[in-house]
Amino acid sequence: MLISSINPANNQVIKQYNAHTADEVAKKINQTHQAWLQWHNTSFQERSALLHKLAEQLETRKNELAHLMAIEMGKPLNQGIGEAEKCAAVCTYYADNAESFLADQLIETEASKSFVTFQPIGTVLAVMPWNFPFWQVFRFLAPALAAGNCGVLKHASNVPGCALIIEEMVKAAGFPAHVFQTLLVGADAVEQIIEHPYIKAVTLTGSNGAGSKVAAKAGELIKKTVLELGGSDAYVILADADLDHAAHICVESRLINGGQSCIAAKRFIVVKDAEDEFTRLFVDKMAAKVMGDPLQGGVDIGPQARVNLRDQLHQQVEDSIAKGAKLLLGGKVCGGPGAYYPPTVLSNVKKGMPAFDEELFGPVAAIISATDEAEAIALANDSNFGLGAAIFTKDQARGEHIAATQLEAGSCFVNALVKSDPRLPFGGIKQSGYGRELGMFGIHEFVNIKTVFVG
Ligand code: NAP
Repeated sequence: MLISSINPANNQVIKQYNAHTADEVAKKINQTHQAWLQWHNTSFQERSALLHKLAEQLETRKNELAHLMAIEMGKPLNQGIGEAEKCAAVCTYYADNAESFLADQLIETEASKSFVTFQPIGTVLAVMPWNFPFWQVFRFLAPALAAGNCGVLKHASNVPGCALIIEEMVKAAGFPAHVFQTLLVGADAVEQIIEHPYIKAVTLTGSNGAGSKVAAKAGELIKKTVLELGGSDAYVILADADLDHAAHICVESRLINGGQSCIAAKRFIVVKDAEDEFTRLFVDKMAAKVMGDPLQGGVDIGPQARVNLRDQLHQQVEDSIAKGAKLLLGGKVCGGPGAYYPPTVLSNVKKGMPAFDEELFGPVAAIISATDEAEAIALANDSNFGLGAAIFTKDQARGEHIAATQLEAGSCFVNALVKSDPRLPFGGIKQSGYGRELGMFGIHEFVNIKTVFVG
């Protein structure tokens, strides 16, 4: 089977790769397990030094990595450079903090000594998406290696070049052979990989369909999973918000990565008194964004990652309009061979429309009207998803209260754009998944939290 890298800006095949056969996959998992038998005995100092080297690789090669992202999935160059730098930061973060996060914890009991120790579990399978083809992998990989685990990666089939260069950088940083390997396989090979006895756990970032399939298989085999799935993040704009600031943040969030981010804001819930002014500011700022070739400077939005994903997004827009949404901007498929889709704004969006009920993974904003704060919060929570949310108000204490206790999501921000940060735990509730990545909580997901009791 061939895995093809296709440039979404022009639909040209960049390169084709032979997929690994089932035997090759089994051999690689075995090699990684053999590597783990040594790796889990290494010291924190050794692992930390290697993670610092990996951060250096990412820094020195960031232009090359950004170019690869641009041609494999359409990310504008400056955003790709930012992604590589963020990967370097997460390597440095765990290099500097893993030892304290995983230090033994003494607990007083009637024993002469009792404590908790955090032990690595072995090889973790990472099933990853294309939208942040380096960041999604590194936010799993840095804590995994720091904790003494090993990893194998099944990356999305449209970013094989990114998958292979990660393996190459881990080697170049000086890590022992095979502690991390890429498996070039399609989605249909994943079940068999999960069945392999040397695969101890699975982390998946991707759609709900993929998450459900992978979690079902892992559950059948009693293997732990972390799932980072889709979102339909609500940004709630109250009447007393700084509307220009709110509109700016909302546009920036909606258009992260051409709109293809799990934590891009998708539903904008505005209380009636602020709606007209917010909508005017929002549409103006969306219209000012530049769409174009991701290899050119000054471009805010490249093409969508694949033509079929762009077409699916357009269908969701059309279906929403057919059900009563009003098109204020964009909404037309661009001509030419690329997977381009323009910044689009829908208003009068209501429950029962795809723009309210589903994840719109592209540059399409849904403006939803609420009579007051209580209805706005109820609408924000009326979703199967629960990844991120934000609240905009000049009353910071009120905003903090709503973020902490009212909004149903894994990360709630006040007057700010929801983003991931190596220092803060990240993950969802409801259909957005379970488990956490990043911060101290992230590194605790794939360790044996072991009790030791000395009588
Ligand atoms: P996707 O189609 O689910 O693919 C993600 C990964 O899962 C790919 O490696 C894919 O392989 C694999 N996969 C797909 N179906 C599978 C199956 N039945 N069994 C096993 N593996 C399977 O998602 P995507 O289109 O790449 O990414 C977009 C989605 O990811 C969005 O829903 C987005 O919200 C979500 N996401 C979530 C987060 C988060 O942190 N919560 C972050 C980023 C993205 P193939 O490519 O070979 O199909």
